[in-house]
Amino acid sequence: MSNKKVSLLWKISIGFVLGIAFGFVAGPMVAENAILGGYVMPFLDAVGKIFLTLLKMLIVPLVFSSIVVGAASVGDPKTLGRIGVKTLVLYLVTTAVAIVIGLALGNIIQPGVGMNISGVTAEPAAAKPLLDVFLDIFPSNPIDSLVKANMLQIIVFALFFGVASLYAGEKGKRIVGAFESVAEVMYSMTHMIMRLAPYGVFSLIAVTASKYGLSILAPFAKVIAAVYLGCVLHALIVYSGLIAVFCKRSPLWYFKGVQEASITAFVTRSSSGTLPITIANVQENLGVSEKISSFVLPLGATINMDGTALYQGVCALFVAQAFGMELGLNAQIGIIVTATLASIGTAGVPGAGLIMLTLVLTGVGLPIEGIGLVAGIDAVLDAIRTCVNVTGDTAVCAAVAASEGEKLSK
Ligand code: ASP
Repeated sequence: MSNKKVSLLWKISIGFVLGIAFGFVAGPMVAENAILGGYVMPFLDAVGKIFLTLLKMLIVPLVFSSIVVGAASVGDPKTLGRIGVKTLVLYLVTTAVAIVIGLALGNIIQPGVGMNISGVTAEPAAAKPLLDVFLDIFPSNPIDSLVKANMLQIIVFALFFGVASLYAGEKGKRIVGAFESVAEVMYSMTHMIMRLAPYGVFSLIAVTASKYGLSILAPFAKVIAAVYLGCVLHALIVYSGLIAVFCKRSPLWYFKGVQEASITAFVTRSSSGTLPITIANVQENLGVSEKISSFVLPLGATINMDGTALYQGVCALFVAQAFGMELGLNAQIGIIVTATLASIGTAGVPGAGLIMLTLVLTGVGLPIEGIGLVAGIDAVLDAIRTCVNVTGDTAVCAAVAASEGEKLSK
């Protein structure tokens, strides 16, 4: 964990607080003050938009390359047998439970009620029938999916590509190596763009705060509370449960063993960046073998994002409530499906979950402008969701190891 990353988190937090303060003070003056209304606010608006666009620019190459690498990191195709299925099932189940917790809290806490944001968007698009959502994940032309940034289709093709490359021998290895390089380059591009985050966040939240005034503070506090509470509940219930059932150990033993990874994830907001520490903790403190941890953890850092999924559940409801839109049972079931898939497609880098939130929002017909609402506080939410993403990988890893008869450390 480098000082640079810690200080970036601080800068983003400072940008957020200053942006809110600036927006609140400037908001009432925008109408009368020509410089503020004519230059400063449009400038901030542009900076915020550029930041969001740069983030979007990353998504297609980042997701495609990291999923190909993740699928191929299975190694020998045969190991995708028993251990692979167990791992995938546990990853999927824990992720679905996380979204259900997120949706439950979003329904109970109702963070967006009372925001009354309207006029930003037109009529909500009708939500797609669930069957169509399923049918639509299979690409007929993967290049078209890439060009149109159809993330679910990209994920499906990338999974096929990664697994198929394992069967293609030497030539397959070469292309996976190339995608590994692409993924690395995209990670470092993400870091470059995240350097702009303090300014992007300042601008986005300043514009929002000046438009909507003090009334947005309470809903934001509620979103943060809902996501943090959900993450803590998920970790305490689901991960303690996994450890108790599979490993027959106390949650304390487990949380203590992986605390370094959890804290690093919180601070760096990157599952991928935390991966070396995650592997070290699981091997050295929990006693999981290299064979299992080196397969389960890299896969988890790429596809298992419980915190991100939970956050997407809360935020989808938040956006719906803020825009005064109803989300019925069908739409909420749609969220479970799309958020599970979206969290799989989320790269383990800072802010990736926010980009994938667009997928969940559009998937259920919510206005994409909702991203602007969440973006301002995303850094705060990213910290806890990344912490849960990484912690979840370690819990599943320990559970799989125990189920394979491995003796875990005392
Ligand atoms: N930052 C998260 C991670 O690395 C992904 C996200 O933005 O949700 O796990």
